Amino acid sequence: MLALFDLDNTLIDRRGGLEDWARVFVRSRRLLPEAESLICERLRERAYPSDFVDLREAFGLSDDPGDLWHGYVEGIARSVRFPGVRESLEDLRRGGWTLGIATNGAGDVQRAKLTATGLAFLFDGICVSEEIGSRKPAYEHFEAAAALCGARLDAGGWMVGDGPETDVHGGSVAGLRTAWVSNGRTWLDGLHRPDIVVSGVPEAIEVMRATAA
Ligand SMILES: [Mg+2]
Repeated sequence: MLALFDLDNTLIDRRGGLEDWARVFVRSRRLLPEAESLICERLRERAYPSDFVDLREAFGLSDDPGDLWHGYVEGIARSVRFPGVRESLEDLRRGGWTLGIATNGAGDVQRAKLTATGLAFLFDGICVSEEIGSRKPAYEHFEAAAALCGARLDAGGWMVGDGPETDVHGGSVAGLRTAWVSNGRTWLDGLHRPDIVVSGVPEAIEVMRATAA
């Protein structure tokens, strides 16, 4: 059985990692304290090299934008993963499941984060939107993610993620069952509902394994 996982705020705490990075960065450049929330707001959903061209301009920094981007990639890669994630993924693999990553974002930063978590080796395929030219919730993204795992969507499987539209609605339209990592939020009407609502990846995996048994 195929299990696809979102990366940010599903397997790893991107939000916390971004806040940590922004705090250190603002201090190191002696920027005003409010710069911290401005940076977090700007990079809240996604970060690309072009964001650092704009931030450099906005804060009047002399840094090379490429250096800023690389500093960010290294900093954010230290984002902590959520507790219990590794053990649960290992259990799922031992149970014969095929594991994949389906994530939106820039290839270098997404791969740097996965490498830093030490989780990358657990996945049969890693699908990053920038590398395949298709973003979730597009069907093509899920199709490519399954193919990178050597699997097919029509054989069924699960998508686990925190994004109501990108992960749950998109995954459901692609024919997958879905687990929504709610992070304390309530569901939005108008989208395909998740099959299960969970507190995190370990709970999702527990239910998925029980369902498949
Ligand atoms: Mg996410």
